[in-house]
Amino acid sequence: MQLLDGKKLSETIKEEVAAEVAGYLIENRRKPKLTAVLVGAEPASQFYVKSKMRSCAQVGFESDTIELEATATENQVLELIDQLNRDESVDGYIVQLPLPAHIDENKVIQKVDPQKDVDGFHPVNLGNMILGLEGFIPATPLGIMFFLERYGIETEGKKAVVLGRSNIVGTPMSILLSRKAYPGNCTVTQVHSRTKEISSIMREADILIAAIGISQFVKADMVKEGAVVIDVGINRIEDKNSPKGYKIVGDVDFEQVAPKCSFITPVPGGVGLMTVASLIFNTMKAYKRKMI
Ligand code: NAD
Repeated sequence: MQLLDGKKLSETIKEEVAAEVAGYLIENRRKPKLTAVLVGAEPASQFYVKSKMRSCAQVGFESDTIELEATATENQVLELIDQLNRDESVDGYIVQLPLPAHIDENKVIQKVDPQKDVDGFHPVNLGNMILGLEGFIPATPLGIMFFLERYGIETEGKKAVVLGRSNIVGTPMSILLSRKAYPGNCTVTQVHSRTKEISSIMREADILIAAIGISQFVKADMVKEGAVVIDVGINRIEDKNSPKGYKIVGDVDFEQVAPKCSFITPVPGGVGLMTVASLIFNTMKAYKRKMI
């Protein structure tokens, strides 16, 4: 079993971006800039945004976070998006999800300028991804593609099973794995909450991607010997031994499953760190498009 090391690979991706930034600065160009919009002070969202901003500093990007109260109206958010679309100094921006329930996420996503949509959630970018055209690939699936590519994992002709059908992970992931490209060329089955006989489908998987948000759902008897297992889940469970009173676990029961795998991602230290690195990668791409 080999660990897919998100800490190491995310640092590599960020070092590559940092080297590109340094090159532009030598040419007296400005720094790339990423802005994050945070609506409400949900602790998990605050934590994710802080970690994204720290990575920006690490690679030499400018960055800022615009915080709105949880009571901000949908119109206020849409107006802010208009401003960011017009702001020449912003190469890319993200609206941290989830948004408060009174704000329509789809409306917000559709308002983002696709050229600045470094989260890759806009329909134009999702459409480009389906067609294999240039665009922004959603950060978490892109991070998983980096794992497959940089660890040289064979994907052609493999059976891939994607657990979950969210717009930000499960669905784009299954599209990417079935594309005629490397990594890709897999035969993909996407399973979800209404799927029957889920365990027997999972047992067929050469590559298993778990993105359902249920702590340690995937057990050893659901996994084929030698499978590649990618765990997207980030779930909090009680842990009396931790000073915080909880610990973070994935959607995969790592202790049980790891011995059966050829490759597996740990949680924490896996996909989460790659998501941030991919966002940095996408922002660099947005900046370069403007510079050409
Ligand atoms: P979500 O929470 O929006 O949706 C869950 C999906 O799982 C749904 O499509 C549902 O059909 C499916 N599902 C639910 N119960 C199921 C069951 N019993 N059997 C089969 N399918 C079932 O999904 P999401 O936003 O993709 O998040 C999934 C997990 O990934 C969460 O733990 C989330 O915190 C985590 N996440 C991590 C990252 C990262 O960077 N590591 C990024 C995004 C999400």
